[in-house]
Amino acid sequence: MNVKLKWLPSFIIMFCLFCIRGERTIGAIFDDGSFLYEAAFSVAIDAVSKNEDNPFIANVIKTSPGDILEAEKAMCNLLESSTFAIFGPTIKTTVQHIQNIADFLEIPQIITEPIETQNRNWSAVNLYPHHVAYSKIFADIIVVKGWTDFTIIYDGSEYLPYLDSIFGLQNLIAGEDISITVVQLPDGDDLRSQLQTIKSSGSLNYLVNCGKDKLPQFLEQAQQVGIMSDDHSYIIMDPDFQTIDINPFKHGGSNITGIRFFDPELKDIQDYTSSLNEKLKTLSEGKIENEISKYGLTFKLALVYDSVMLYTSAITAMGLEESANFTCDSGETWTFGATVINYVRTMEIDGLTGTIKFDNEGVRSEIEVDVLEVMAHGFEKVGTWTTEDGYSGSRKNIPAVEQEGSDSMKGKHFIVLTALSAPYGMLRESPKKLEGNERYEGFGIEIIEELAKMNEFNYTFEIQADGVYGSYDDKTRKWNGMMEKIMDGRADFAITDLTITAARQRAVDFTNPFMNLGITILYKKPTKQPPDLFSFISPFSYAVWGYLAGTYVGVSVLLFILGRFAPEEWQNPYPCIQEPETLDNQFTLANSFWFTLGSVLTQGSEIAPIAVSTRMAGSMWWFFTLIMVSSYTANLAAFLTVESKFYAIKSVSDLANNPYGLTYGAKNQGATYGFFKESDNMIYQKMYLYMKNHPDLMTESNEIGLKRVKSDTENYAFLMESTSIEYMVERNCDVAQVGGLLDSKGYGIAMKKNSPYRQPMSESILQLQEQGKITRMKDKWWKEKRGGGACTDDDTSSGDAQALVLANVGGVFIVLAAGSGLAVVCAFIEMTINVWMISKRAKVPFKDEMIAELKFIFSFSGDVKPVRHRESSGSGSKGSKKEEDKEDDDVESTREDERLDAPTPHSERSSHSHHTLHSRRQSNAVQMAKMRKYSRQFSNMTK
Ligand code: GLU
Repeated sequence: MNVKLKWLPSFIIMFCLFCIRGERTIGAIFDDGSFLYEAAFSVAIDAVSKNEDNPFIANVIKTSPGDILEAEKAMCNLLESSTFAIFGPTIKTTVQHIQNIADFLEIPQIITEPIETQNRNWSAVNLYPHHVAYSKIFADIIVVKGWTDFTIIYDGSEYLPYLDSIFGLQNLIAGEDISITVVQLPDGDDLRSQLQTIKSSGSLNYLVNCGKDKLPQFLEQAQQVGIMSDDHSYIIMDPDFQTIDINPFKHGGSNITGIRFFDPELKDIQDYTSSLNEKLKTLSEGKIENEISKYGLTFKLALVYDSVMLYTSAITAMGLEESANFTCDSGETWTFGATVINYVRTMEIDGLTGTIKFDNEGVRSEIEVDVLEVMAHGFEKVGTWTTEDGYSGSRKNIPAVEQEGSDSMKGKHFIVLTALSAPYGMLRESPKKLEGNERYEGFGIEIIEELAKMNEFNYTFEIQADGVYGSYDDKTRKWNGMMEKIMDGRADFAITDLTITAARQRAVDFTNPFMNLGITILYKKPTKQPPDLFSFISPFSYAVWGYLAGTYVGVSVLLFILGRFAPEEWQNPYPCIQEPETLDNQFTLANSFWFTLGSVLTQGSEIAPIAVSTRMAGSMWWFFTLIMVSSYTANLAAFLTVESKFYAIKSVSDLANNPYGLTYGAKNQGATYGFFKESDNMIYQKMYLYMKNHPDLMTESNEIGLKRVKSDTENYAFLMESTSIEYMVERNCDVAQVGGLLDSKGYGIAMKKNSPYRQPMSESILQLQEQGKITRMKDKWWKEKRGGGACTDDDTSSGDAQALVLANVGGVFIVLAAGSGLAVVCAFIEMTINVWMISKRAKVPFKDEMIAELKFIFSFSGDVKPVRHRESSGSGSKGSKKEEDKEDDDVESTREDERLDAPTPHSERSSHSHHTLHSRRQSNAVQMAKMRKYSRQFSNMTK
């Protein structure tokens, strides 16, 4: 009822117009559920009626999509209100139903759908190209491209006829073994699982036959699963390929080819498009605007125009005035029906979609299309295809700028392989269910994010589930893990703690390193030791203690000798006697040792040096003791406050010697293991053999290594890379790095050998480093995120006190040695001056006096020195005459005694007379003086 009411006004209007002006009505049934066909039909009718005396008029009935009963009623209504033909409908089932009625009533039915007409010799005229001709276009393109292995991806059974010629390709390419895989896309929006299957089949070439509506979704999801890289090629069969938004896919690296039936830039097309837009706006009462100019004119809408052109030209050419005008159940047929249909089939016009003509079978088998390819600047016509001549390429040379740009990463999509290895790649913690790249975070993930921003590329992360980074297997002669995937092109980049090694560099390309590191040991923190009773020895190393003792003895002996040299040190024992017979020296051997000991122990002694030389030596010693004692005190404080620790191992050689039954290992198939394997160092070779013979000690990941190190049941050390150790010791306070780095290397992003992306990626990494971004990222992921900084306060006492070694205090020994040397020189000068003065005063030869003096000095005969040339005996009395005489008498009597006691041969006596006499006198005088001294001391004591 509603439908009838809806039609009523248009019937009345048309009827009146027909009566008044003799206009020719063309009926149409459209069930597409939109205004598009109706608008296209109306615009076309308006266009063909312009300047016509007998204009055509459109009678459009819109029915519910796929409702055959409604469509049937519409047809009968059109017939009752007179029509020259029925255009439409659009949905396959309805088309076929209306076709049956049209056949029966001999009414021409004009369709523009890729639908097989049931009886092509009868009433239906289909302007959609015939499937055999259509599929031939693509078969030829495949031959030109030389595909011998490809996958046909189609959307539904209605697309299968359009693959006819493709399946016949085997016959076209002689001698080639063609492998074709056919895959149907699933219903619904998620095509990813099917695309994943296609990807894992290893196929790289795809012939895609699906509708324009599904195509963007298909391409987007293909990009997401990673089959739109440089290695992949697509041929799109849909004629509306040029109307999809190609921008997201044009930089992806894939070769995408398609066809078009018309150039959207042509004036006719643009005029039609703008009229269509106007019409749409009117029909939809302003709700639909510019839809066609936004997406472009579709092939079917162009066909609607062409079909109207074709049919109205036939009617006009035939001069037909009488339309079909009867009821469906009248049993009548249209008298001119068969004639019109036959006439239309013989016609040939130039339409928007090319030349429209039908073959003997009544189908449109002669077609002409442009072949397009997607370039960085958009679509580019690379050739044409005609039924007659097949494919002919017309590709212009690609401009140089475009070629350079083809290496650029802009807009391309890449598969980035990573591993779940903290902190390089980790699963994001979130209460929400995350999808795609959102699921991952970490240092490596952030670097890729930054690089993608800088180079404007898209990426999808893929996880290396087994965590194997890749090593070369000598037996299979193949790489495994991430390396294999990169080499096979299954992923474009790999980022994680992937070490750049010489072997890997031979197989793939790496960017500049984004991080530097070296191999070292992860082990439990050293255990604390009980305080040492003898820790007071610790401040100095044993060597320093030894040097100190040696220096003490040396300086003491030196002082003793200097004392003997220095005249000033020989002092009058009786200050009241002006000219003593003997002089005393305070620097006896015992006193010298006591003096130096007193200053070392900072206690001093009553002995004070008098001569310049002894003072010089003494002050040097004081300086020496000052520095040594201060250093000792300072270092002792450190030793007493710092807890001493027990280190089971301190370096890798300790580990190799394995003193406490330690076990050790590294990550299986990793660069660390590879380092030991390749090294020619004896220790490392020994360690490699150990690890090789103990596969149970090798781990699948660094995390497992850490667990084993921490385990109480195992005494395990893990060889690992310093950056990863840094991350772990930030969070696990019971483990620490032991020893230094065994080597120096870096982590890089791996990609296929000779990849054009190596240069831009390396450049961007350097930029990130120069901007300090990588350092900031490292601080964030190492020290802040995921429990970073947990062990920062833990290690306040970690600095061990170290015994001072000679290198620390060597300078002060040198100063002391230099000072002592100077003192010796001084002593010698003092002694020489003194001897010279005496020899002058006593008028004895300098040489004799010097020899006598030296003899005395080196006789080391006690601390009393007789005065050899007293002034009174030479140049007049100054002291007590009485006492002097007495002493002289003593000396003389002694001299006489000696003469008697020891008779000397005359000759000898005569030659040595002076010296012998002199020395005897000296020794006797010394004896006498001593005796007097002791008797005085004795009497003092007894008083
Ligand atoms: N970074 C290493 C690699 O690239 C894995 C860890 C290791 O071997 O210590 O293989």
